[in-house]
Amino acid sequence: MKTYAGKPVYHGIAIGQIRLLKKEKKSVIRSRIEDVEQELTRIKEAVNEAEDQLKGLYDKALLEVGESGAAIFDVHQMMLADQDYQESIQNIIQTQQVNAEYAVAVTADNFANMFAMMDDAYMKERAADVRDISERLLTILMRAGAAEVSTDVPTIVVAEDLTPSETVQMDKSRVKSFVTRYGSSNSHTAILARTMNVPALIGLEYDEDIDGKKAIVDGFKGELIVDPDEEILAEYEERAAQEEAKKQLLLELKGKETMTLGGRAIRLYANIGGIADLQSVMQNDAAGIGLFRSEFLYLEKDHYPTEEEQFQVYRSVAETMAGKKVIIRTLDIGADKQIDYFELDKEENPAMGYRAIRICLDRTEIFKTQLRALYRASAFGNIGIMFPMIISVKEVKQIKEIVEEVKGELDEMGIRYGEVELGIMIETPAAVMVSEDLAKEVDFFSIGTNDLTQYTLAIDRQNAKLDNIYDAHHPAVLKMIQMTIENGHKGGAWVGICGELGADLTLTDTFVEMGIDELSVSPSFILPVRKKIREHS
Ligand code: PEP
Ligand code: MG
Repeated sequence: MKTYAGKPVYHGIAIGQIRLLKKEKKSVIRSRIEDVEQELTRIKEAVNEAEDQLKGLYDKALLEVGESGAAIFDVHQMMLADQDYQESIQNIIQTQQVNAEYAVAVTADNFANMFAMMDDAYMKERAADVRDISERLLTILMRAGAAEVSTDVPTIVVAEDLTPSETVQMDKSRVKSFVTRYGSSNSHTAILARTMNVPALIGLEYDEDIDGKKAIVDGFKGELIVDPDEEILAEYEERAAQEEAKKQLLLELKGKETMTLGGRAIRLYANIGGIADLQSVMQNDAAGIGLFRSEFLYLEKDHYPTEEEQFQVYRSVAETMAGKKVIIRTLDIGADKQIDYFELDKEENPAMGYRAIRICLDRTEIFKTQLRALYRASAFGNIGIMFPMIISVKEVKQIKEIVEEVKGELDEMGIRYGEVELGIMIETPAAVMVSEDLAKEVDFFSIGTNDLTQYTLAIDRQNAKLDNIYDAHHPAVLKMIQMTIENGHKGGAWVGICGELGADLTLTDTFVEMGIDELSVSPSFILPVRKKIREHS
């Protein structure tokens, strides 16, 4: 058994036989020609044939991987038709009186180098595309065959690099993974792997003798395990089966509504800690973001994030979600989340101490900076703001006054902002008890069951010794949830759950019966919860 490390560009587990692709480098010879016109006709015909091939590949990719995966062959057609590219080839043939193959090879090198030297990451990637279309022309001119994979066993394709044309020609039903020595996260092979939903690794240094061997691709750790021993193989077979079951769920439920059999729609949102989680939000088809824990923005810095820094992040999330709801929770530090530059005093009882909204209402400059960034970002999407650790109506009124001040300042500066729903987290028993009054002040409630359990049961959620009695299913917690939903509705607020309990499939039916409007869960739980809701009668 030997393990090689690479960089995963798409996750998943694959088990199969390695097929090492060795592309024969076409050796292009420079030869002088007599008949320039004939050579120009040869290249013209080759371009026409390449165009036909690309049209065919586009149609094939469209059927197999959809429009976004097929788009690359559109790009290739455009590059092939590019006047500068074609003129360069013709010019070399005419001025140097050389063969078309040589003119294509030189043009390919020149154009690829030019793209590779560009600053823009997207343009850099085009170097590989110029090489790809030029290879196609050379193959036609020289009548050589391209590297192909047709196989009847599950296959892990390993290569120096792969062109989109090569990947699209592969038998998708057999190819379980791509592994390359070169390539980048933005390369089309990586994009295609994501679209095909198979794991892919790049930057992996392999030995040539791996061809034909049994192997595992761990697209989570970024490993290629060649000749795995029995135990490892059994472990991965089990994981692959679990992954496969998840994929099936994904295929079945993606794009479907989150609605009970009785026709009640529940909003199913995702919890995130930052921009990096957005890919998983999209992939799992969340209807929005129900909890963006903004404190991670503060935790990853060694200074207070500026208004501009925050604005860029909130705006990017709002834009990416393209009109879907994005609920951002204001800073929730203290207790288990400590940040040095806040210089918070050490406390006897941090969970019940100076934390979250208590800090914000005390150090209002920090709070106002965040609110300004949030309101500015609201012009770019559908933002909601919620406030953590609320215990009283008085706090909510204070918050609303500060929000009005911030909006007034933005108005004065002529900065536009959108409609923003304001909500609070219900995570203290106090908030539950006064929830009917709180509901009149806000648009929504989001129940933070992690803290609500801790404060209801008086059990520190951080204390491992008490793990066995930290019971979020305790009837007291469930009654609190029920009461919050009823009171929220009475006061005109919609009610969701964003604590971990929201993803507890044994309680989904209970929450639906209680009248919950929204559930916000980790992205990987979206589809299992959707399945459960769709089965609710
Ligand atoms: C909660 O308390 O349930 C919650 C969602 O917030 P956090 O886990 O970030 O405290
Ligand atoms: Mg909490």
